[in-house]
Amino acid sequence: ASYSRIKEVDDKVQAFLTLDEEGAREQAKKLDEALESDDTRGLLFGLPAGIKDNIVTNGLRTTCASQLLSNFEPVHNATVINGLENAESVTIGKLNMDEFAMGSSNENSGFQTTRNPWNIEYVPGGSSGGSAASVAAGEVTFALGSDTGGSIRQPASYCGVVGLKPTYGRVSRFGLVAFASSLDQIGPLTRTVEDNALVLGEIAGHCKKDSTSADVSVPDYLSSLIGDVKGLRIAVPKEYLGEGVNEDVRQRVLEALKVLEEQGATWEEVSLPHSQYAVAAYYLLASSEASANLARFDGVRYGVRAKNPNNLIDMYKETRSNGFGDEVKRRIMLGTFALSSGYYDAYYKKAQKVRTLIKQDFDKIWEDYDVVIGPTAPTTAFKVGEKIDDPLTMYANDILTIPVNLAGVPAISVPCGFSEGLPVGLQIIAKPFEEGTVYRVAHAYE
Ligand code: GLN
Repeated sequence: ASYSRIKEVDDKVQAFLTLDEEGAREQAKKLDEALESDDTRGLLFGLPAGIKDNIVTNGLRTTCASQLLSNFEPVHNATVINGLENAESVTIGKLNMDEFAMGSSNENSGFQTTRNPWNIEYVPGGSSGGSAASVAAGEVTFALGSDTGGSIRQPASYCGVVGLKPTYGRVSRFGLVAFASSLDQIGPLTRTVEDNALVLGEIAGHCKKDSTSADVSVPDYLSSLIGDVKGLRIAVPKEYLGEGVNEDVRQRVLEALKVLEEQGATWEEVSLPHSQYAVAAYYLLASSEASANLARFDGVRYGVRAKNPNNLIDMYKETRSNGFGDEVKRRIMLGTFALSSGYYDAYYKKAQKVRTLIKQDFDKIWEDYDVVIGPTAPTTAFKVGEKIDDPLTMYANDILTIPVNLAGVPAISVPCGFSEGLPVGLQIIAKPFEEGTVYRVAHAYE
């Protein structure tokens, strides 16, 4: 059913970069055969899954949507893929994204631009645009994405699906191709909150192969879905409903708060005063980390190598010049500059200090409130081509998702109505390791 849906719609949606029909059928057959001797089923038994193409899959091409990795076949699985295999889902294929997860629209893919299933003239968001679009278009039951500065939540919002960025350290990053290691997290995109909780339960947990993975036990997320929010204290940052937020988006969020109020929650306006510096700090920090992480793509160890270089330096240069797209080059140059001697204190170190202030803004909120709520993005999806020539406007679009990554806290985007035919997303943020609270609120609202 999954493959016939893909055949039906994917030439329009263009969510998939690689399909593995043979492998998937084999995987499914094995699951069926195993039932003959043992009738127990994994929690995700037989469910078709799509995987963002920066998560490595053993023997299955993993490109990060970069020409540089167009022929890269990993020799092992990411920890999350092993988690899914244990839970007995079936991997259908690999999903499009912005190259190396840098972007907010999927237009930075080195292969194709995924389209928003609600209206194919619009972007699906990014960088996990393929993941969000494949779930919204009914091609798979769930998908995995990654979120460094909003890349799960913003496309979930634009495509009208549920997307969760877990607490930093909750899900292993082993086998996630690193963009900005201090911010990256893998998380699920699904059609319902319940599905999301189910998938997170199977991919979360301590992993010895990721030194930043947290040794914290994984609760039963499904038991958080109690269907009520009585007594819950909600903080609504005035910065999240202020200037730059579209009027329809603001209205949908206020309507959602009303629904939660009717169910016994209370809300108050608060301030996250340093949010205004989040975008600037993030683009310095993420680019700095990316400039170091992407140094490994030298033409020797992975992917496509320059054809006829004159010498070693020439080989590096040609491989990287031909292999990386414009946005990736822009980030490497910005990051290298910010880390260079003489500029480090003024840019990188300053941005780290701002990051601490942003985290402290949230810490202060948790003294009096259980969750922070606002929109996921200031607008609904924009048109393909509308922002691609203006990187700063594209970056500014991440203003409501980035603070969450800088603070390391968990957050979800859940659909909350429409504006002119396009979905609006409600963002729910909680304390570190309180994914259960995020799910409880999202489920009660949904
Ligand atoms: N849009 C942001 C960026 O381009 C977020 C990316 C992400 O979360 N991977 O960096």
